[in-house]
Amino acid sequence: MTEAKIIDSFGRPHTYLRISLTDRCNLRCFYCMPEEGIELMEKPSIMTLEEIIAISKTYVDLGVDTIRLTGGEPLVRKNFEYLVRELTKLNITLKLTTNGILLDKYYDLFEEIGLKKINVSLDSLDKAKNAFITKRDYYDRIMQNIQDGISRGFQIKLNVVLIKGVNEKEIKDFIALTKDKNVVVKFIEFMPFKGNKWDWSKGVSEEEILNEAQRAFGKVDTLENPKHSTSNNYQVEGHKGTFGIISTITNPFCSDCNRIRLTADGKMKNCLFANSETDILGPYRNGESIDQLILDTIQTKKYSRDGMELKMDADQYENNRSMISIGG
Ligand code: SAM
Ligand code: SF4
Ligand code: SF4
Repeated sequence: MTEAKIIDSFGRPHTYLRISLTDRCNLRCFYCMPEEGIELMEKPSIMTLEEIIAISKTYVDLGVDTIRLTGGEPLVRKNFEYLVRELTKLNITLKLTTNGILLDKYYDLFEEIGLKKINVSLDSLDKAKNAFITKRDYYDRIMQNIQDGISRGFQIKLNVVLIKGVNEKEIKDFIALTKDKNVVVKFIEFMPFKGNKWDWSKGVSEEEILNEAQRAFGKVDTLENPKHSTSNNYQVEGHKGTFGIISTITNPFCSDCNRIRLTADGKMKNCLFANSETDILGPYRNGESIDQLILDTIQTKKYSRDGMELKMDADQYENNRSMISIGG
């Protein structure tokens, strides 16, 4: 294994890179994509597949051992198959976050190359509500793909963003899925990004989720969190699967953060909430070495939530990007 060299000023080694392949998406989830849309990136400003592969290699040489492909919707990226085949050669753990619509096209490939860890976003088990949240009607296809993925032995995690008045009544239904399916449900606290009309009164906190789980199922066991975990993890006694809570708002997991992000237009972000970005693609295209740039950039990483340690600050998050163009 390559020595971890991307170490921030708090001594945290960064070994986990999340790459956004595109800011395009076949859904319009209201908490992610602003109602008025986003200004889409111009094609020439987006990293080509060869650039993604070469820049990834630099990160891997600096100690990155895990790459998660995200977006936008990563599976709408043209020649996705070629990209993952090339990234697999870097000898890393490759993971994917997707809305699940196109998974059926790729399961055979994923089996072949050993990509096993797939996070699928699914915010409601109700077809009509799903259409309300995503503004599109792909529910049946997504459900079928999730079911097939579980049957084929993929490690499927369901990402569920909870929003009051929308889907918070489904907490117990999602946890019920873990009864006899080997699936992990990750509840995510609603987070603020540019244009998503965030207001914490719409959010559902870790405490509320846990209380609801205990009310519905009685005994809930607390599991040991793996190193660098971004969630507190639980299991209802007797259930096959588990659930976790990503409590970025009420109880952020920053102390052990090992994550860096690369946007589709090749900007490095030290944190999901970072306003500042470092252009990696520009210097790469100019033939400059990007190693030192990456190492220098991580030195500017703040300890927690890009400095929003105590509370979310609208001046800051409204100057961030929308989630769809960061890559969650
Ligand atoms: N399109 C893919 C998907 O939906 O899984 C990948 C990109 S999406 C931006 C990644 C994750 O970010 C999804 O699980 C989504 O639910 C989550 N997300 C987007 N906006 C969010 C917000 N405002 N608060 C919390 N999670 C959010
Ligand atoms: Fe698209 Fe994912 Fe954002 Fe939904 S959460 S709009 S699927 S990028
Ligand atoms: Fe890391 Fe930022 Fe997420 Fe905290 S909020 S865990 S510092 S990426």
